[in-house]
Amino acid sequence: MHEDTIAALATPFGEGAIAVVRVSGPGAVGLGGRVLRAARPVQDWQPRQAVRATVVTADGAGVDDVLATWFPAPASYTGEHVLEISGHGGVLVAQRVLAAVLAAGARPAEPGEFTQRAFLNGKLELTQAEAVMDLIQARSSLALAAAKQQLDGALGRETMDLRASLIEVTAQLEAYIDFPEEDIDPDTGASLTARIRAVLDRVGQLLATADRGRILREGLSTAIIGAPNVGKSSLLNYLCGEDRAIVSERPGTTRDTVETFINLRGVPLRLIDTAGLRESTDDIERLGMERSRAALAAADLVLWVVDGSRPAAEAGAAPGHADHTNRLLVIHKSDLPRHDDWSGSDGVPVSSLRRTGVEQLAERVRQLALGSGAGIGSQLPAINARHQACLGRARSALTAAVEAMEQGIEPEFVAADLRAAMTAIGEVTGRIDADEVLGEIFGRFCIGK
Ligand code: GDP
Repeated sequence: MHEDTIAALATPFGEGAIAVVRVSGPGAVGLGGRVLRAARPVQDWQPRQAVRATVVTADGAGVDDVLATWFPAPASYTGEHVLEISGHGGVLVAQRVLAAVLAAGARPAEPGEFTQRAFLNGKLELTQAEAVMDLIQARSSLALAAAKQQLDGALGRETMDLRASLIEVTAQLEAYIDFPEEDIDPDTGASLTARIRAVLDRVGQLLATADRGRILREGLSTAIIGAPNVGKSSLLNYLCGEDRAIVSERPGTTRDTVETFINLRGVPLRLIDTAGLRESTDDIERLGMERSRAALAAADLVLWVVDGSRPAAEAGAAPGHADHTNRLLVIHKSDLPRHDDWSGSDGVPVSSLRRTGVEQLAERVRQLALGSGAGIGSQLPAINARHQACLGRARSALTAAVEAMEQGIEPEFVAADLRAAMTAIGEVTGRIDADEVLGEIFGRFCIGK
């Protein structure tokens, strides 16, 4: 438990209906007694029930009429005594409430400090604390669903299960270490190897969700590529629903790349509008084209836009390699009569002018880039870069353990690899406890043998 009491504005800075000042720490009750004037003192309030009160300064001047709620430890977000003061949502009044609370003995909280305390007090695992951030930052329904699932503890439970399996295997190996004259019999050896391999497979599956996690958190990076005047900027504006990029009738005016985050029917896209890919003598435009190529190379998805009313020759060569699996052809200007060259094409017809085609485009993007079944909408966890680093280390250690088992190397070495894997997996949730492993081992194998 921390000794100091922290306070901060829990709602965004600015004008709003209410502003919430949150206070957490052992001094929250005493502090409440000093800044809140109510019918009864804070310690007599019903926990988790809003009480009408007046915030007062040290010299007794009223600051704001508020509703305050008292969450006694440990049944609070941080696990400490927490006081939440909901006042009027003005910039000045909220600041004055916070100032009164700080003057009464609280210290300003650091960013994330409430959630950090929740983690340190065992209210949340690290994966859940991270999910709180993901939940706040989610900009699409799929990202929100993934964050919610992680907050519910799905990833934490999964990694705990994996560790539990490894603890059991290690415990059995330790028995052979204690009695070196006994060789591991082949059946036991094979079954232990199979169990390590099962954990390794599952770690591999979790690692495979890293891309999905990145896409959910950052958006699918999408390059809009096509010859000048096919309507790339207009398409970008249509997809964004507002005039973000400059639209012009003169070829080659979109000289820079514009990056915009959009929510395409639940799929998060990071759109990069790029200058048309064509030969140019204009230096500035050439710079734009170089960026286009770089964007194309790095993109998760390429939308190749062509003018469906014009001959295919004008569209130029398809961008990227022929095997660029994430390339989607957009037959643009579908409000105009279609040119014969595009009659058999399976590209998606879109008209930015008439604002038609976005539904079909969204569906195709979802299928192409995110797959179906085990794809982005599934209930798999979506790991982040930190989880990826931990699980990557676990995979190396587990691979070494499997090899050592197969080569019949002494159990000490296998156990060391398994311990390294357990530590790495434990880091995902932030629960690394050597005593826990030892307790488990000695609890089971309490050498009565
Ligand atoms: P970019 O050079 O590829 O970015 O193309 P722009 O977005 O600047 O558009 C080029 C021209 O095509 C402009 O005159 C637009 O008004 C026109 N345009 C864009 N989208 C459509 C569409 O869906 N239908 C029709 N008929 N014209 C369009």
